[in-house]
Amino acid sequence: MPKLYIDGACIEVREGATILEAARTAGASIPTLCYLEGVSAIGSCRLCMVEVEGHEALVAACNTTAAEGMVVTTHSERLVAHRKAMLGLLLSQHHLDSTRYCFSCSKNGACELQALCRAYGVEEPLFTSNECNTERKPVLDDNPFLRYDPNLCIACQRCVGACNAVARNHTLRTAQHGVRTGILAPFGPEWKQTTCESCGNCAQACPTGALVEKRRDVYRSWEVTRTRTTCPHCATGCQYDLVVKDGRIVDVEGANGPSNKGRLCVKGRSGSFDFIHAEDRLRTPLIKNTQTGEFEPASWDEALDLVATRFSALKETYGPDSLAAFACSRSANEDIYLLQKMARVAFGTNNVDNCARVCHAPSVAGLARTLGSGAMTNPIADITNDVDVIMLVGSNPEEAHPVVGMQIRAAVERGTKLIVVDPRKIGLAHKADIHLRVRPGTNVAFSNGMAHVMLRDGLIDEAFIAQRTEGFAEYAAMVESYTPERVAEICHIRAEDLVAAAHLYARAQKAPIIYCLGVTEHSSGTDGVMSMSNMAMLCGKFGKPGCGVNPLRGQNNVQGACDMGALPTDFPGYQKVTNAAVVDKFEAAWGVPLNRTPGLMATEVFDAAIEGHIKGLFIFGEDQVRTDPDLNSVVRGLEALDFLVVDDLFLTETAKYADVVLPGIAYAEKEGTFSNTERRVQRIRKAVEPPCGAMPDTWIFTEIMNRMGYAQPQLTPADIMDEIARVTPSFAGISHARLDSDEVAGNGLQWPCTSADHPGTPIMHVGTFSRGKGLFSAEEYKPSKERPCDDYPLMLTTGRILYHYNATAMTSRTEGLNQIAGSSFIEVNTHDAETRGIKDGDRVMVYSRRGRIESQARVSDKTGIGETWMPFHFLDGNCNWLTSDALDYLCKCPEYKVCAIEIEKVDA
Ligand code: SF4
Repeated sequence: MPKLYIDGACIEVREGATILEAARTAGASIPTLCYLEGVSAIGSCRLCMVEVEGHEALVAACNTTAAEGMVVTTHSERLVAHRKAMLGLLLSQHHLDSTRYCFSCSKNGACELQALCRAYGVEEPLFTSNECNTERKPVLDDNPFLRYDPNLCIACQRCVGACNAVARNHTLRTAQHGVRTGILAPFGPEWKQTTCESCGNCAQACPTGALVEKRRDVYRSWEVTRTRTTCPHCATGCQYDLVVKDGRIVDVEGANGPSNKGRLCVKGRSGSFDFIHAEDRLRTPLIKNTQTGEFEPASWDEALDLVATRFSALKETYGPDSLAAFACSRSANEDIYLLQKMARVAFGTNNVDNCARVCHAPSVAGLARTLGSGAMTNPIADITNDVDVIMLVGSNPEEAHPVVGMQIRAAVERGTKLIVVDPRKIGLAHKADIHLRVRPGTNVAFSNGMAHVMLRDGLIDEAFIAQRTEGFAEYAAMVESYTPERVAEICHIRAEDLVAAAHLYARAQKAPIIYCLGVTEHSSGTDGVMSMSNMAMLCGKFGKPGCGVNPLRGQNNVQGACDMGALPTDFPGYQKVTNAAVVDKFEAAWGVPLNRTPGLMATEVFDAAIEGHIKGLFIFGEDQVRTDPDLNSVVRGLEALDFLVVDDLFLTETAKYADVVLPGIAYAEKEGTFSNTERRVQRIRKAVEPPCGAMPDTWIFTEIMNRMGYAQPQLTPADIMDEIARVTPSFAGISHARLDSDEVAGNGLQWPCTSADHPGTPIMHVGTFSRGKGLFSAEEYKPSKERPCDDYPLMLTTGRILYHYNATAMTSRTEGLNQIAGSSFIEVNTHDAETRGIKDGDRVMVYSRRGRIESQARVSDKTGIGETWMPFHFLDGNCNWLTSDALDYLCKCPEYKVCAIEIEKVDA
């Protein structure tokens, strides 16, 4: 720990700290323009120069290590003169003239060069006629979101640092050297041919108006307020500030959250606010006229009275279990808690579920069975920083969890080995040390093969197995038949690659398994999940940093929807409906007798409606007519209902089938919390008022409970979280007040958090598993339910793309995202396309046993021979008319990842 003197004050700093870091620790202010903490310290702006005793020349503070006994002066006449000269030089490169001046620049008021010039009294460029400022360069603005004006560029290279070291996208580069240094920012006509993801981390890093989000044109920094909140798209849980001008959100700025460290992806930065102010937001309750079939505006009293009367009548006539409710996994924990409470205390049923049923229900069930808790074991930062190997199974984080993808790219560039197990050549497969291109639906065989090799080659952790697990003998016997050769045949991979992957993973000290829907969305999805924990247990990779089994949850608060008890089998905090003591506790807390029979799962509800068992359904913020498999049966189920209520922001495809539509409010219009994929409970905060006529969802549920005879007071979201904490042991230490406190410092709290002084639990299963001993679950490989045949010879797998989220209710209202990716496509292998006479870009008819759609062919070898892939986002050409109704045998998750199809070219 070197000691040095900064402006006469003696301070101690960490070994390796720079003078700049030391000065900032001492409270001294040193100007910088090219420095970006943790990213770039190239020292090119020369503004951070300081005087160091014994050195005649000035020294750059940003990249000079603080040494024992150094005597540093950060402010002196000499330094001020130097900095003035440097600012004058920078202004000489910064083309200001009668057509472009500070007042007309979108960064006016937020420009760091402007601020420093003002602070140092610099008003004129040092030179006015050199090569650099006579030649005006064209502004590049073809990207829908980003604009680069090279005339305002001071060549600080912070944007290049952000692209290369933050986003790890390597799209921006520098050109030439010295005074001619320029930035190659690909925002001209060719931008779509580059690897640019439009994430905007470069614009956030730019100190001037050179590289900006175009939307900055509509505001100036002194006109706006900022509200810290959590991104509403994927479950990475990125923190950012909503920038508000005159009651409208005009921009988003990345914040230093625990899972994103300032990074954002294109959806978070550019796709998270246009929908808030969309013209087609619902602004009044709607009741369907039974004669005309048309919706008619209604008052809140009319709509809520009708909802309560009809649900009460159905309950009276057919019993409480004729009703069901689906929670919104995009909404806040507090909303979801009240929704499930409404189902249980007012409807009187456990028929309540959320969209985890169609994505990570196998994770919840499978990991609960083997580990005792169905959630990610380690934090994102822990499994992407300082790890030896990452094994990524059925997960494409660059598209579905982009900020996690950026961190995995960074880890690989730092030397972490990467094993990708995925049928497609996803982006990260190109960076992988081993890509196991398994056939869709063969994850269990792959994992059993890995285990076979680990056992055969003595790679297992015998002490861990003996002390902390059970079921090993049966499991070891089962995997004996999964020789590399047999598994190679099942999975269509090379046996030697499987062996190499097993050695790489098992021998690593720190090696997390990260997986996603490629593991879960199968008829044997729960087995797939348990096979992930089997592999990690075999090598003792639980309960320690850089390890574990880590399901990347999909939607922003799908983790919270499960935590809050929007599950037919569980009260909040995974307290079982079948446990009499638990039900007794909730009866005492809520003051009514409760139903003790587990409810129907969401994927069973539509069939139950067709069969006449479910009569009334309340859908909160989900659009099953876009997102569920086999849409024909979903539509039949909705049409069979006696009464359907939808609470949403927009008149979605599902809402069109409703009898009553209730306008709720969006994440930026309410207080509350989301729980991200790493079990981190983080705040969302109200930044703008909701549209007149829309009401908070908690108010809606409370009104319905009261009108159905359950006396529920109107509570604030903070009050609701206090109630959650009272009935949920794993949330007992969580409150809004604590989340907002200096103690938590914006880092959220990771459950289990069992008391007001509990720090939360970053890593689970330390010392002991939640269930006591970890369970090896011996599961044989079972083929997918629907396999290719003569009539339907191709396999279809579905998934997400970078630019949209789920049914696009939010992202499609950002025009720039539609410009980049606005319509359905199907990836087809080159061989399969050739045999069908299909060329890249052709329109094709895609059909399965359940339906047919038209889409556009993307021909390449990204998918394997006999395999195809489609995104499920688009209304036009929605692949869910094709997908299979096969469900996971245990938790009824649909088999989105395998169905049999055929394609043919559509004649022009
Ligand atoms: Fe939002 Fe996910 Fe993108 Fe982060 S990675 S900005 S949470 S969509």
